[in-house]
Amino acid sequence: MNRVALIGNGFVGSSYAFALLNQPIADELVIIDLNKEKAEGDAMDLNHGLPFAPSTTRIWSGDYADCEHADIVVICAGANQKPGETRLDLVEKNTKIFKAIVEQVMASGFDGIFIVATNPVDILTYATWKFSGLPKERVIGSGTILDTARFRYLLGQYFHIDTRNVHAYIIGEHGDTELPVWSHADIGGRPVHDLIQKNDKWSAEDLDDIFVNVRDAAYDIIERKGATYYGIAMGLVRLTRAIFHDENSILTVSVHLNGEYENDDVYIGVPAVVNRQGIRQVVELNLNDKEKEQFNHSVNVLKETMSSLFDKKE
Ligand code: NAD
Repeated sequence: MNRVALIGNGFVGSSYAFALLNQPIADELVIIDLNKEKAEGDAMDLNHGLPFAPSTTRIWSGDYADCEHADIVVICAGANQKPGETRLDLVEKNTKIFKAIVEQVMASGFDGIFIVATNPVDILTYATWKFSGLPKERVIGSGTILDTARFRYLLGQYFHIDTRNVHAYIIGEHGDTELPVWSHADIGGRPVHDLIQKNDKWSAEDLDDIFVNVRDAAYDIIERKGATYYGIAMGLVRLTRAIFHDENSILTVSVHLNGEYENDDVYIGVPAVVNRQGIRQVVELNLNDKEKEQFNHSVNVLKETMSSLFDKKE
């Protein structure tokens, strides 16, 4: 029995539940939220879709005791930024929420894999790792999985190629300091940098614009509809599938670095091999000097935020 426990059934969490139901991945899905009524209502609503689903999933609204037999706990719970609140205020608030959540999950006897989506995702994945005491391989953040998907989508549109034939990564913080790895971006084996030399209708300026659109996509969507959730929900399902199907897939997720990319003690988005054990291995791309500098800057920004956070707490 493959059981997923979803904690946080807001826009992202409920979209994840719906997307999960539409693929034959999990046998059981338990939904946990402070708002018990919403969790109950969603469990009922989702159950009514089962006759149309590709496989049978047992769905119910539950509590932390149900995490004991969960294989994966997905956390999408948390507070959103309020007007006048700084990013650091939000980090502090969500870290406190995470401490309470992760402690309750661990008290159930949970011994599986955590997937974290709540922002700031790299820092809250680090917090989950610390609070849970689980091996780093079994605590995974959604990292830049969505940013990489946005990047591939936009490159596919630009070069008029199926997005699944675009190989390109966004790495770093899921946030303002993330970076595109142009040195390893290719379409069907042809480097993007070579392609733009070969045809006047393509240019380096356009590529720069594509990255800016990726980086700022969340702001652009939030301005229009208040939140983003479908893309990340599908990314979380992709990650869930890679784990349950023991795929050894390479996904850009937030993982703990321990010497890889010449950095350590930080959770940050990089490509990694994902299977039933969690993170099998970090994929180390041979970054050029500019990319290395940008990546190190991203690490430093995360570490700086975390140091003020954990200094105060410990
Ligand atoms: P939301 O406000 O709609 O949902 C949050 C849910 O968490 C609510 O249902 C709330 O009741 C619940 N909750 C709060 N505290 C809880 C607790 N202690 N225990 C259990 N449940 C609790 O927010 P959303 O739009 O679904 O976003 C959720 C998070 O996902 C945010 O942090 C958002 O920034 C993040 N997000 C991440 C990505 C990504 O790429 N990683 C993309 C989009 C959104």
